[in-house]
Amino acid sequence: MQQDPTYILEEDTVRRHITVGSYTYLKIAEGCDYKCSFCIIPSMRGAFRSRSLENIVENAREMAQRGVTEIILVGQDSTSYGKDINSSLPELLRALNDVPEITWVRFMYAYPNLVSDELLEAINDCDKVVKYLDCPLQHSHPEILKRMRRPQTDLVEFAERARAKIKNVKLRTSFIVGFPGETEEHFEHLRDTIQQVKFDRLGVFEYSDVDTAHSQTLDGKVKKSVIKQRRSELMAMQQQIAFSQNQEMIGQTVDVLIDMVNSYGTLIGRTQWDAPEIDNTVQVKGQAVPGEIVSVKITHVTPYDLKGIVVSES
Ligand code: SF4
Repeated sequence: MQQDPTYILEEDTVRRHITVGSYTYLKIAEGCDYKCSFCIIPSMRGAFRSRSLENIVENAREMAQRGVTEIILVGQDSTSYGKDINSSLPELLRALNDVPEITWVRFMYAYPNLVSDELLEAINDCDKVVKYLDCPLQHSHPEILKRMRRPQTDLVEFAERARAKIKNVKLRTSFIVGFPGETEEHFEHLRDTIQQVKFDRLGVFEYSDVDTAHSQTLDGKVKKSVIKQRRSELMAMQQQIAFSQNQEMIGQTVDVLIDMVNSYGTLIGRTQWDAPEIDNTVQVKGQAVPGEIVSVKITHVTPYDLKGIVVSES
């Protein structure tokens, strides 16, 4: 039988940061106590263990002092943060918000039934915490969620609650299509829910069997061609949603964090509503350096990218 790994970095272990520049990822916990049927992470990474709040805050402060503008908190299940050390993610966000050197804080990978009102209020209250909620929901249909061993979540209610509690929030989620047992009816439920909720950012993954995952043993496997077609359908629908949301930004002036200068000499950045590598980028005309936040007037948009001009330093 495979042993649970127990290793977690000590407080004084020198950390190699995945990225140093305009943003950096900061791991707040290791492992996961859930048992989603398609996932083998718990068997590889072991039970959930949080790092101490003081250590994370100190680490984030050091990164900010070195010039990193955005701290991105990650863990397999960031919303469980603190449950084993008598703390919580809202407490961590509020502590980071109080650090003068820090500019932006983002966290990724919320677990749906742990998105409490307390957490939403902390995001809303903390001016350094970006108004962005990333919560992979995986599916909308109760029967598929049950087969996935995921919590039963009413996606419409979930999105309404988040949007009501956090002013000007953007919601990111991801879904899996073609999970074993997903019928046309289940898929239509998902498609109609996405159309109704209009998530601001959306990823769609095609299900595929993973060795040792429980879902591999389930009946009702969906043909690869059907899985591909379902993903294409959702992505085409989302493209329309994303384009119309981006069009609403034309003429607005928003803060943009400059990440880099590309090979053509164009500044490339992001708004607070976009995580690196997965969301919109903004091509910016004007003077700025990576790591700087500038006010940018949005002039052109595509479904997944924006263009704008610097109007002043933010
Ligand atoms: S999908 Fe996420 S929450 Fe589910 S078992 Fe894997 S790591 Fe845990």
